[in-house]
Amino acid sequence: MWLLSILSLSLVFLGSCGSKSIAEQDIFERIEETPEIIWGVKNDTRLFGLMNIETREVEGFDIDIARALTKEILGSEGKASFLEVTSKTRIPLIKNGNIDAIIATMTISEERLKQVDFSDVYFEAGQSLLVKKGSPIKGIESLDSSTTVLAVKGSTSALNIREYAPEAKVLELENYAEAFTALQSGQGDAMTTDNAILLGMAEENPDYTLAGDIFTDEPYGIAINKGQKAFLEVVNDALRTIKGNGTYEEIFDKWFPEVNQ
Ligand code: GLU
Repeated sequence: MWLLSILSLSLVFLGSCGSKSIAEQDIFERIEETPEIIWGVKNDTRLFGLMNIETREVEGFDIDIARALTKEILGSEGKASFLEVTSKTRIPLIKNGNIDAIIATMTISEERLKQVDFSDVYFEAGQSLLVKKGSPIKGIESLDSSTTVLAVKGSTSALNIREYAPEAKVLELENYAEAFTALQSGQGDAMTTDNAILLGMAEENPDYTLAGDIFTDEPYGIAINKGQKAFLEVVNDALRTIKGNGTYEEIFDKWFPEVNQ
């Protein structure tokens, strides 16, 4: 009897080892059955992914691109769902299978390519600084050992700033909302991230302005877990289609009307 129950228990165990975890399931096959794509997006980043507290809907360039890609891949019946990520949580969330793709101001970098695959570039940004108007900081060259720069954990900006301003002190916050609050309360002299994100903050807070030119290139890509080649391919096909048929341009002009592509 004992032997039998041990035997059946180990069979159950072996059986569960054979079934795939969520992260290992083929996304392309799943969305063919259930037409829904779960996108990891920012919720605190104006112009890219910002929660509208009245409608409870997240809004921005990344959101509109995700919706357009979903429609292209799954047809108009397909559903785009959104889950909040921060710079720090986005890779763990995709590795655990909580989201299918990350479209969240994410730079394609060598380091990240070791963990995830990326789509073709869908937006070109560059790192810059945000300061209070009238600040003596005029650009990256103004940063020295007497200045504290605010950055966000898990961002390329937090790494790059140490290389481009090795003397400056760096204070890392959890997300962009917190980093901007820290700048306003004087915890740092400047905040650093991509120009397009800083532009959104400066537009909303006219006492703040960008200082100096960009000092890095930050090409944004859509991150997809390794081992999801079929899904990556349809995302790239859809991206090519919306770039070709004017949809991408329409979305770009909606969010960045002053910028000529
Ligand atoms: N594009 C940079 C990055 O991927 C900064 C923006 C962000 O933190 O999402 O890290």
